[in-house]
Amino acid sequence: MIQRSFQDEHPKLYIVSTPIGHLKDITYRAVEILKEVDAILCEDTRTSKTLLNHYDIHKQLISFHDHNKTEKAQEILSLMDEGKHLALISDAGTPGINDPGYELIQEVIKHGYHVVAIPGASAILSALVVSGCLIQPFTFIGFLPRKNSSKKEVIESYHQRVETLVIYESPLRVKKTLEDLFAILGDRAVVLARELTKIFETITRTTLKESLSLDIDTRGEYVIVVEGSKETYDLSLSIKDHVIQLIEEGNDEKDAMKMVAKKRQITKSDVYKAYKING
Ligand code: SAM
Repeated sequence: MIQRSFQDEHPKLYIVSTPIGHLKDITYRAVEILKEVDAILCEDTRTSKTLLNHYDIHKQLISFHDHNKTEKAQEILSLMDEGKHLALISDAGTPGINDPGYELIQEVIKHGYHVVAIPGASAILSALVVSGCLIQPFTFIGFLPRKNSSKKEVIESYHQRVETLVIYESPLRVKKTLEDLFAILGDRAVVLARELTKIFETITRTTLKESLSLDIDTRGEYVIVVEGSKETYDLSLSIKDHVIQLIEEGNDEKDAMKMVAKKRQITKSDVYKAYKING
């Protein structure tokens, strides 16, 4: 399916980015589109009213959030069936980025209507570019799972990744998350981007180890940017030779096998087989 966004009169769902703090961080085009559409879908109509009133935007607002998104999708599609153009905004930043929108976007596409981005603020890029960490490649993780075991599993799965990691975190969980990141990833550069674009914006550039002794302010919003892995291994090395190399570097056999499994993201039994049985 090819969407030619501006070459026909198909009903459009505009995905409009709004500020992540500073009220002026909205584009001219975003304001224009919000004034033109037939209705605006808002994550929280009360929150959005502050922004919309500021820009003198007075439109029909439709509440669209995580708890009503399934029922609302039908109503929204019926409006588009009538030829209405709509805009989706969230409480802050870009809709869909850890905010409601994904399922609706899928439905709108399925129904053959256009989905058009009106780009702007998102905490991901602002945190990344001020972090001083390698900018590309980077991986956006979003929020880590709340459940301890799943959270650790997810962090573990990024252990070997060389790209910078960008994580959203609630202020109340930042401290614990830094502890988990340190325990699993070891010591690395980490940047805490707090209250971006707001009066109390604070960028703390430190290391995971040092971050454990920081007094973390539990107010405000945080993005955690973590440097990627610097531990690489020679890809041409066989699993067996990799274990031998680590033993020669002074590790005992069991630790060497564990390290190879971790570095290569394979199971310990696969390492055992390659080292002891097949070798
Ligand atoms: N859609 C938003 C975006 O495009 O960035 C993200 C919404 S998500 C529900 C909220 C999370 O984004 C916060 O918990 C925080 O991790 C991050 N965030 C949003 N605004 C921020 C800001 N001004 N400073 C730091 N982090 C922010």
